[in-house]
Amino acid sequence: MVTRFAPSPTGFLHLGHAYSARMGFDAARAEHGRFLVRIEDIDRTRCRPLFVDAILSDLQFLGLSWDGEVRRQSEHLADYERALAQLDELGVLYPCFCTRAEIAEEIAAAQSAPQQEPGSDSPPRYPGRCKRLDPALVAKRISDGNGYALRLHTEQVQAILSAKGMWPLTFRDRHHGVVPVDPQLLGDVVLARKELKTSYHLAVVVDDHLQGVTLVTRGADLLSSTHVHRQLQALLSLTEPAYSHHPLLTDPDGSRLAKRRGSESIRSLREKGLTADELWAKVGLRSPAVL
Ligand code: GLU
Repeated sequence: MVTRFAPSPTGFLHLGHAYSARMGFDAARAEHGRFLVRIEDIDRTRCRPLFVDAILSDLQFLGLSWDGEVRRQSEHLADYERALAQLDELGVLYPCFCTRAEIAEEIAAAQSAPQQEPGSDSPPRYPGRCKRLDPALVAKRISDGNGYALRLHTEQVQAILSAKGMWPLTFRDRHHGVVPVDPQLLGDVVLARKELKTSYHLAVVVDDHLQGVTLVTRGADLLSSTHVHRQLQALLSLTEPAYSHHPLLTDPDGSRLAKRRGSESIRSLREKGLTADELWAKVGLRSPAVL
């Protein structure tokens, strides 16, 4: 039994993170398993070492001690590149030259713009312009030095997995039961960015496999991502973990606790002199007992 907490060091932890880490910590303890911490720092433009130190210090302060070494994704880029090469060999990737602005324009222009689920934080589904490009034009653009991202070709994924008798896919979740994978939910996500040969989705499935994670605990906001992750696990023959997408904590006004909305950080609450017990009380929990 192995769980993990995998924060991105783009800000200080807030109470929602503490709650999420605690879910993984308690699940591991309940089954005498291991609780791992992984720093998801592939996005060098948004991650800061200052936040890594603060995250680890806050976890310790809160009594959430982890097992083994902290894995930092920025130190394992070769692992993700290998997985990307495997996917490329399977023929499930295609280059995308679009800028964010072009994608937004195309979505706005399309009458039947795909609707996101309410409350979703994910960007709207990619409408597929580069999937329809003539292969000769693709080759020319690449040889002209145009930067490109690599996207997952979801129809191709379905065709390959169906041919292997592996379709439809499902995942098991402690809160949501057995969930059938819907490849159209997030659509053709980016698996390698223009400037980086990986993305959140790819790095997460590779790491969860390499770290032997058996129960992925994270907030319900990431439930839609799991539809992508299961496809990648099946394509790459990675072990399938169980999932526990816990409900998100909300502010007293009902809005989600998120660092970008300026919810109070653990750091600032600590600076005000709150103890670990008082911090846990804010999310309706008692401090984890020291074993
Ligand atoms: N790094 C992600 C975040 O901070 C969480 C990834 C995960 O738990 O799979 O939102």
